[in-house]
Amino acid sequence: MKSKQVAIVGAGFVGLLVARLLRIRLPHQVTVTLIDSKDHFLFTPRLIDLLAGEHPTSLRIDIQAFAKKYGFDFVKAEVKHVDRATQQVSFEETNGSLRKMTYDKVVVCCGARPSFYDVPGARQYAFPLKAIEHVERIHAQANVLLSRARLATKEKEKRALLSFVAVGGGAAGIEALFALRQYVFGLCVGSEEEVKPYMSFALVQAAPQILSGFEPTVVACSMMELSKAGVKIFIGEPVTHVASDYLVTGRTERIPAQLILWCAGLEAHDLSIDPDAHRRPSGFIPVDAYLRVDENMFAGGDVAFYREKNLVMPKNAQTAFLMAYNITENIVRSLHHQKLRPFHYVSHGNILLLGKTGILDLNGVCLHTRLTPWIRDLFYRFRYWQMTH
Ligand SMILES: Cc1cc2nc3c(=O)[nH]c(=O)nc-3n(C[C@H](O)[C@H](O)[C@H](O)COP(=O)(O)OP(=O)(O)OC[C@H]3O[C@@H](n4cnc5c(N)ncnc54)[C@H](O)[C@@H]3O)c2cc1C
Repeated sequence: MKSKQVAIVGAGFVGLLVARLLRIRLPHQVTVTLIDSKDHFLFTPRLIDLLAGEHPTSLRIDIQAFAKKYGFDFVKAEVKHVDRATQQVSFEETNGSLRKMTYDKVVVCCGARPSFYDVPGARQYAFPLKAIEHVERIHAQANVLLSRARLATKEKEKRALLSFVAVGGGAAGIEALFALRQYVFGLCVGSEEEVKPYMSFALVQAAPQILSGFEPTVVACSMMELSKAGVKIFIGEPVTHVASDYLVTGRTERIPAQLILWCAGLEAHDLSIDPDAHRRPSGFIPVDAYLRVDENMFAGGDVAFYREKNLVMPKNAQTAFLMAYNITENIVRSLHHQKLRPFHYVSHGNILLLGKTGILDLNGVCLHTRLTPWIRDLFYRFRYWQMTH
């Protein structure tokens, strides 16, 4: 039997897992081609550790070496278009050449990027957090601000320079603010301790509460930790304007902000699909109960929009893992002309890192413990091992 062509768009949690699992499940029946604009897989939750100034293991995977090990093809290119009628994926390689690949099955799992929601100044002045280069830029800015504050003679000037803000009161925004605080505190050693009292941290959240979708105990506990850390919290205040040294919300005129972490939300990457897949306002792709757009196209992870009963799937690595297993199973079944398996989301809880402490949310049972960073580290090592074995 002629080998079936499976194209996978995006080597994130979903893409890497599906590629490896398909090669294990169907070693002789499928040729798998994984396409990504980067040459490495990034374990994105580890960006928080990196931002805190740590050197986490299990941060990235070289895709080419991984592909070689598991016997699939890797193409470093940006996918521009998926034509569902002709079953072709079009992509642009690094040298600018355009290529097309015909598929029997395609999996679109290209994740999502930070959305600036057209807020004036946000794209120009705020820092997104989605790649290693972003962390490097944030660190560079923090270092510049600290050096300038040390040289400043007036207290007012020092205070203005050391104003750090996170926009977005979801898990990523809160974890990132604590990580940034840990990083800048880490820079204040010896005589440089003197600038520490001038630092301010703020969290700005558009929605009426932080951590929507989390257990009330997690929200209450996080609010307590934020206030213990001296973070000023602005809730129910959508940012309307960002400037180089402050931001404005619907209610507050001017929040000093020399370094702004932008964790306000996500949108889909530019990738056209024809015929249109009836995409959601932020470009996310609606999928059916089997994670399909049509018989031959699957979508999973952050780029997919799926609602199970009243619950819209959270965009996190946990969902991505579950979807990857389901998509693999359904590709195998569809190639064997078997009944597909509906996707079912089961939450295994959450881990929220708040600097050197954090919360373990085990489906309603919340433990606020200093062991959280250690447990999280072990868990991520396990997840990384799961990705690669
Ligand atoms: C700072 C941060 C902290 C996080 N913390 C947590 C956490 O603690 N717990 C948790 O569960 N989740 C966390 N997440 C969310 C989690 O990382 C994502 O939900 C997960 O990565 C989604 O996996 P994915 O496979 O859909 O996409 P991704 O892992 O984002 O991978 C998408 C891939 O597609 C590629 N790509 C994009 N567009 C194209 C294109 N046009 N052509 C080719 N390739 C393309 C990208 O280069 C990327 O490699 C965090 C995210 C961030 C940014």
